[in-house]
Amino acid sequence: SGLKKYFPITGGLLGGVKGEVKAVDDVSFHVRKGETLGIVGESGCGKSTTGRLLMRLIEASDGKIVFEDKEITSMSMSELRKIRRDIQMVFQDPYASLNPRHTVEKILEEPLIVHGIGTKEERKRRVHEMLEVVGLSSYHARRYPHQFSGGQRQRIGIAKALMTKPKLIIADEPVSALDVSIQAQVLNLMKDIQKEFGLTYIFISHDLGVVRHISDRVGVMYLGRLIELADSEELYENPKHPYTKVLLSAVPTPDPDIKRETILIKGELPSPANPPLGCAFHTRCSECMDICKTTRPVGQGENGHFVACHLYNKE
Ligand code: SF4
Ligand code: MG
Repeated sequence: SGLKKYFPITGGLLGGVKGEVKAVDDVSFHVRKGETLGIVGESGCGKSTTGRLLMRLIEASDGKIVFEDKEITSMSMSELRKIRRDIQMVFQDPYASLNPRHTVEKILEEPLIVHGIGTKEERKRRVHEMLEVVGLSSYHARRYPHQFSGGQRQRIGIAKALMTKPKLIIADEPVSALDVSIQAQVLNLMKDIQKEFGLTYIFISHDLGVVRHISDRVGVMYLGRLIELADSEELYENPKHPYTKVLLSAVPTPDPDIKRETILIKGELPSPANPPLGCAFHTRCSECMDICKTTRPVGQGENGHFVACHLYNKE
């Protein structure tokens, strides 16, 4: 709640601080146990930063993160280590997170060693169990990451995230680097695993089509702000925020009877280092009013449909 991450911009002759990038600027949401919350937005909207903040891979400038009634934001490193068994991440490029010189067995065993879980024997058993779960087999344990296809490597990335029996998985663009045909396989695998282990997902992606496929609820970010959040169906059928409407108009609908008009967006994406005053979207919004240029809209919700836009202000 109230999550912020401001990065200082340094530079100039003396290397001083020139300003700051408000990568995440006052973002609040909750995730229900067992659901998938999708977070979408263009690159640079702060969605990845939000994911990393939740795990405290980077420290928040302000705000609070609570996981099962425990406040992560104020935890000591040793408490945080325990929580990190429960929260795992899956990344876009599994190759970067898989040590190329280690066998798959060693890669998968590592999180257990880090967290001091199990005997050697038990760890091995779990490695082989998890390989099966993600659709690989014991046969793959002795191989190296480069011997796998992209889709298989992401399966290994997922197996690695599952090793510590987490409750929450934060997946940051997990299928964006894969061919479309492979994307569906990996998404279906993630869905199956979620059911089997009762997992909760935060699924971050720039691709609304992908997010729709997997999410129960979807939040939309723009320039560091959460601008709309609703149940998936509701968001896709009844988008409220002008920016969400633009984003959706560019996504092909699975139902050929539903034709959306393509809404062209004007202007360039402003720099996050210098976001427009008031509503951050006002420089590109076709429905911009005077108040939008000066006053940041406060988010409000009805029936779980949250939107931050002056068009919906109830005053
Ligand atoms: Fe457009 Fe104003 Fe709503 Fe921003 S607050 S999206 S500028 S109508
Ligand atoms: Mg990103």
